Amino acid sequence: RAKKDGPGRVLAYQPYMHTEALDHLSLRGDLQRALRDGEFRVQYQPLIRLADGKPIGAEALIRWYSPARGFVSPVDFIPIAEEFGLIVDIGQWVLETSAVQVARWRRDFPDLGLNVNVSGHQLVHPRFTDNVLRALAIAGLPSSAVTLELTESVLMSEPDLGKAALHQLRGLGVQLSIDDFGTGYSSLAYLRELPVDELKIDRAFIARAELTGEDLALVRTIVELAQILGLRVVAEGIENAAQLTALRRLGCGYGQGYHLCRPADAAEVPAKLSRASIAVRG
Ligand code: C2E
Ligand code: MG
Ligand code: MG
Ligand code: MG
Repeated sequence: RAKKDGPGRVLAYQPYMHTEALDHLSLRGDLQRALRDGEFRVQYQPLIRLADGKPIGAEALIRWYSPARGFVSPVDFIPIAEEFGLIVDIGQWVLETSAVQVARWRRDFPDLGLNVNVSGHQLVHPRFTDNVLRALAIAGLPSSAVTLELTESVLMSEPDLGKAALHQLRGLGVQLSIDDFGTGYSSLAYLRELPVDELKIDRAFIARAELTGEDLALVRTIVELAQILGLRVVAEGIENAAQLTALRRLGCGYGQGYHLCRPADAAEVPAKLSRASIAVRG
């Protein structure tokens, strides 16, 4: 087999790019092999409390370094893993791997939480609750340390599917976050029905450098909505000091982004957690 490619490798032109349908099928086999042969990894991006820079958790982000394809973004392979029914196993691997990792870090960072992205296909799986609990048991991680991130579009597309599982998990102490909030037309009534703990403001609203005008008004509205509903609010994609200042001024509680801390391999994370508050204080 070809040796593994490192991070940052640019995808070179390959003949398979011509034949997309064929590639689609071969991707299925590659994804199956990837899980079996250990080609997936997890990177972690801290969630930072904006008032003082304290890292309150880490989001697990899957990475695929394919010997044949190089680095493949989760944006590209997650939908295909869903289509081929592979996401339940891949998602479970992420959950178990990251739960074990965060349980280990909690010896030095006792309050650290874990945020994990969950596909709608995992949520509606009949054994979803058991799968989550199994991962926590393997890791010895308390349920209160875990926040499951589901995108707004998944939650709104099938409002009743998975609702029982979410309530069951919430009853066991697991927290729920709505990822990419603001892009999926949530009904406010529905927000109150779901056992939600956290809203993550989609980075599209944070993206413009100065955070002014309509973007600022929208972010302010989401922050206020979260306050009214008693939810944690996290701004995604903070890339510069101006955005950070604007968000702190609005009273946005938490943030993530390249300006605060980039996603990193597990080995680099403890040092980053120790230094995390510098961007906020400086
Ligand atoms: P997401 O959950 O909304 O994750 C945030 C994405 O924004 C991540 O991209 C992260 O690396 C990136 N990001 C963080 N800070 C910044 C910033 O300051 N600027 C910019 N431009 N980007 C930033 P990534 O890792 O490529 O993941 C993309 C999406 O793939 C995730 O969006 C999530 O929907 C999905 N994903 C990642 N890992 C998993 C997983 O284990 N399971 C599932 N089901 N989906 C996953
Ligand atoms: Mg996420
Ligand atoms: Mg997001
Ligand atoms: Mg996103």
